[in-house]
Amino acid sequence: MAQKEQSCQKQITQFSTMNALLGRVYEGGFPVHLIEAEGTIGLGCGDCMDGEMIMDDSTSYIGRIGSPFSRMDTNERVPFAQVAPFAADDSFTAAKLDKQALMEEVLRRVGSENYFIALRVTGTFTDMKLRLAPKADKPYPSLVELFAGQKEFSEPSIRGTVIGFWAPEAYQGITVAGLHIHFMDEAKQTGGHVLDCTLAEGTVEYEVYQGFGIRLPERQDFAQADLNHEDGDSAIRHAEG
Ligand SMILES: [Zn+2]
Repeated sequence: MAQKEQSCQKQITQFSTMNALLGRVYEGGFPVHLIEAEGTIGLGCGDCMDGEMIMDDSTSYIGRIGSPFSRMDTNERVPFAQVAPFAADDSFTAAKLDKQALMEEVLRRVGSENYFIALRVTGTFTDMKLRLAPKADKPYPSLVELFAGQKEFSEPSIRGTVIGFWAPEAYQGITVAGLHIHFMDEAKQTGGHVLDCTLAEGTVEYEVYQGFGIRLPERQDFAQADLNHEDGDSAIRHAEG
């Protein structure tokens, strides 16, 4: 990798942490307008874990079980989100790449697994396997218990946009280590957390970030939560894999 002037400007901003979700801090602390102000693309989850959020062009949408896919109210509050002011470093066209092969190709081009990466992939996807998280009701279940009630569905062939982030292994618990992506179709009618997919043909844009900022929730439930999770790694892999 060529040495270049260090940019201290751009960063991925994350609201709350995966450890906080493992600590059952499910109630939304961050209004959508605050999140949209920090970037152009992003993902997150709904208040009380209700649904999967995706942001493109600084506009947020959410897929919820039993509701039409819709634009989010900017005053709605969410418990977790990740956002970046996306301006692609590079892009390439690709065909017949599954989720793992797609990420391997991006990492090969970046030449390192030690940075944060934002992805935006547009095109036709096959075998798009999506998940919607269910709303958590009190008394709040663990994340693993909650996701036992997730809704899974598949689209055999669909045009749209995948947006998400790749984080190095060392940041598991703070964020989701490895690849975490959400999807929204071209007509903005459906979407969710991507469990699996194949890019049939399309364009992969990516940007490498040396900056990663975290905003912690200013809330009693977060202040009092136990954030030390012995089984955190397997719980995150189970919930977000
Ligand atoms: Zn997700």
